[in-house]
Amino acid sequence: MQSRRHFLSSSLGAAIGAGIGYVIGKRQAKPAVANEPSDSPSDNRQAPGEIYTGGLVLSTWNHGIPANHAAWEVLKSGGRAVDAAEAGVRVVEADPAGTSVGIGGAPDRDGHVTLDACIMDETGNAGAVCYLQDIMHPISVARKVMDDTPHVMLSGSGARQFAVEQGFETVDLLTPESKARWEEWLATSSYKPIINVENHDTIGLIAMDQQGNFGGACTTSGLAYKMHGRVGDSPIIGAGLYVDNEIGAATATGLGELVMKTCGSFLIVELMRQGLSPQEACEEAVARICSKGDYKNYQIGYLAMNKQGETGAFSIHPGFNYAMIKGGEDKGMQDSGNFSES
Ligand code: ASP
Repeated sequence: MQSRRHFLSSSLGAAIGAGIGYVIGKRQAKPAVANEPSDSPSDNRQAPGEIYTGGLVLSTWNHGIPANHAAWEVLKSGGRAVDAAEAGVRVVEADPAGTSVGIGGAPDRDGHVTLDACIMDETGNAGAVCYLQDIMHPISVARKVMDDTPHVMLSGSGARQFAVEQGFETVDLLTPESKARWEEWLATSSYKPIINVENHDTIGLIAMDQQGNFGGACTTSGLAYKMHGRVGDSPIIGAGLYVDNEIGAATATGLGELVMKTCGSFLIVELMRQGLSPQEACEEAVARICSKGDYKNYQIGYLAMNKQGETGAFSIHPGFNYAMIKGGEDKGMQDSGNFSES
């Protein structure tokens, strides 16, 4: 009897044979059959079906560089991808200079810093916290939710209570600098997210370890000056992050509402399951958003990787960059392709 996976890929093959294609943005793309090489611009392409075991880390924005280094410290000694992802994003959470993550993150419009984070491992386990206050490392609270509770997500005061019970210290996350910026904003209270500026430090980090297993983490203070109580895509499994160890991993940054409404990271992993390369899958997920309404004033950036170590990155507008380490080689910052210029 053929396996379910084989059945899906052969069904897709039949669909392709019947002339069914994916509409990707402004072009008609040909989906690749699962496990065949794709058009991906990624380097170090692997032979069909061969699992990449050199170690791979991808993360959003400039802060990805120190985060990637911390993640690589875990991977280089044979550690798990999920541990690498957690270690990586913790660097950004602890940096008060980052204005969209952890301490120093921009508050909501009422002056409260509320944090969202989620994590997934190679077994499909997931943990998340949202609307969490006073805790510097929401990603590690999410990890505890994943490892030590029967639940996937805790929110608000319940998440805070759980964190304190687990020994996390409480801290004032509103730094003098972030308070001053918020007070300046209060003078006008005009809410206009600025592409590539307002959320420049939110970090989604996906990793593949030397056993060929995936893990990922995503953490943010969310949109600056959001409504009190607003939760974005970053702690939502399948929106801000998704990992399926059979297929690959994806993560998102940008206006979370657009990612949530299209289940962005889950969509990318499912498109890869159907045979698209990580690059094609990211492009299709961006195109899905752009086909549904007003995207002109909003930025979204997606990152993805597959079992063969191919990578993908795509955004709505120019300016989305990401950091990569592959096989121990630090490739520094890279610019993604984007919809509005394609
Ligand atoms: N996705 C985050 C949110 O909407 C913000 C960002 O990544 O820029 O909360």
